[in-house]
Amino acid sequence: MNCLVCKSGTMIDSFETYFAKLKTGYAIIENVPCKKCEQCGEILFSASVIEKIESLIENIEKISSKIFIFDYQSAA
Ligand SMILES: [Zn+2]
Repeated sequence: MNCLVCKSGTMIDSFETYFAKLKTGYAIIENVPCKKCEQCGEILFSASVIEKIESLIENIEKISSKIFIFDYQSAA
């Protein structure tokens, strides 16, 4: 699969940290699987990963803390 941004780089399997702004604070999710362009560094999360993150965020928004940091691998 080629990168959609630079068109010439190859998207390779990688892990990235995902930052999300919540209504009540922020979430930092580590080790999220993604595709990363080896040339320009563009990051692409798959639809199923985004879906999973959204349901995780929905749950943590109910807890009244400002910043959440968790590991995708252990939460998924
Ligand atoms: Zn690229």
